[in-house]
Amino acid sequence: MVSDKQFQQYLRQLSLPNVGENGQAAICESHVLIVGCGGLGTAASMYLAGAGVGRIVIADDDDIELSNLPRQITYRSNEVGQSKVKTLADFLKAQNPDINVRTIKRRLHGSQLALEVSLADVVIDCTDNIKTRQAINKACVENRKALVTAAAIGWSGQLSVFQFSKLATPCYHCLYPFEELDTAMKCSESSVMGPVVGMMGVYQALEALKVITDLANSSHPELKLFDGLTGQWQSLKISHDETCSVCRDSKTTTGIKNDPIYRK
Ligand SMILES: [Zn+2]
Repeated sequence: MVSDKQFQQYLRQLSLPNVGENGQAAICESHVLIVGCGGLGTAASMYLAGAGVGRIVIADDDDIELSNLPRQITYRSNEVGQSKVKTLADFLKAQNPDINVRTIKRRLHGSQLALEVSLADVVIDCTDNIKTRQAINKACVENRKALVTAAAIGWSGQLSVFQFSKLATPCYHCLYPFEELDTAMKCSESSVMGPVVGMMGVYQALEALKVITDLANSSHPELKLFDGLTGQWQSLKISHDETCSVCRDSKTTTGIKNDPIYRK
């Protein structure tokens, strides 16, 4: 149950009929891993901290650069050169002193990535390269964790939610079955309009809160595409790649069969 202070603080969201005190308690007890503290990670983390997510882990090895400031919205010009994770953690703890924020100043990979994913309830992929995205996807499939992934390039944004805990679901690798993008497509080297990144990051926070409060649409993952110039959204269903090397075997694992949804 939520405390009196939490009731007051989160009143405007827990008074939503499908959230309630139980939903808020779930948010306050939740553990979210945010990989990448750029434009997506800063926007997502602000709203998750504000919503009361009890444990937020942020991972990034970068320091703040001047060119980050237009879209990495928690960083100030006098913080250029400082660690992104430390600066963001200070921001989030000032925003909401009741939550725990843990920092990892390195690129997560291998066993450390697997461990951090296994500890989390929801993983938010805010990285800017597809190799890391594939590693995060694989760790989420193997640990049956929810993954909220997004990207923004130019005027376009995209987002998908994969709830590996609930369904034998397609994965990110089914959607993008490769490890490298053309140089022109790499987010880190591409031009981008800041508010598009912010929109995708805030959207990631919204989807994470829906996963935590069990309000996410888990029936079938979709690729949501946003065109910032026209303001149009498109939704495309993501299909299983039967040859997918990442999730192919997970459909028949004992873990999935033992999931309550499969035990009716
Ligand atoms: Zn797959």
